[in-house]
Amino acid sequence: MGFTQFKFHPAVSAGIREAGYSHPTPIQKEAIPKIMEGRDVLGLAQTGTGKTAAFALPILDRLSKGARHATRALVIAPTRELAEQIEASFRLFAGQTGLKSATVYGGVGQTPQIAALRKGTEIIVACPGRLLDLMQQGVAVLDNVEVLVLDEADQMFDMGFLPTIKKILQKLPAKRQTLLFSATMPDEIRKLAEEMLKAPVTVQV
Ligand code: AMP
Repeated sequence: MGFTQFKFHPAVSAGIREAGYSHPTPIQKEAIPKIMEGRDVLGLAQTGTGKTAAFALPILDRLSKGARHATRALVIAPTRELAEQIEASFRLFAGQTGLKSATVYGGVGQTPQIAALRKGTEIIVACPGRLLDLMQQGVAVLDNVEVLVLDEADQMFDMGFLPTIKKILQKLPAKRQTLLFSATMPDEIRKLAEEMLKAPVTVQV
C-alpha cells in the first residue's frame, strides 16, 4: 500500500508525489498512523530508515489544517547538519501547503535567524543552545507549540545538551504531542522519555 492509506491533506499528498516517494518505509508505516492519532511516540530508528518523513509528514498534515503564523511545531536536533537536513525535508514536502520553516543553530550570525523568526514560521528546526538563547531574548516564541520532536536524542545526550533541553521543555506548553527519536536507548534516554512522553507508543525498526 502506498501513502494514500494515511489520508493526508491533499497539499501534503502533492508534496509526497513531488518528492517521488511511492511506498512508506517500515518506520513510516508504523509511526505515521500513531502520530496522526495524536499519540506520543518513542521511535527507535537510525538515520536512513526514513524517520524524518515519518514525523514531518504527519506534522505538515496537522499544520495544514489550522492557524498560520504561530510556531506550532518545534524539532530539536543535535547538529547544524541534521537541522538543515530536517528543514530541507519539511521544505520538500511543504511546497503546496504554504507552511514555512526556519532553522536555528549556533556558530553563525543570529541576525538572519532572528529575521526569519520575526516574519513568522509555523515550523522551527533548532539546535538546543541557540534556541534557548533566542527564547531568552524573546525572539523565539513557543507558546503555541503543539508538537515537539526530539531527534537523535542519544546524540544530544552524548553532546551534553540534556540540561539545555530541560530548560527549553520547561517553557513549552505542557499540553502538546511529543515525539522522541533515538538510534539507541541507553538508561538516560529511557529516563528522559519517561519524563517527557505521556503514554507513548514505541515504534522500532
Ligand atoms: P532519513 O532516515 O529520514 O534520513 O531518510 C533517509 C533517506 O530516505 C532520505 O534521503 C529520504 O529522502 C529517503 N526516503 C525517506 N522515506 C522514503 C520513502 N518512503 N520512499 C523513498 N525514499 C524515502
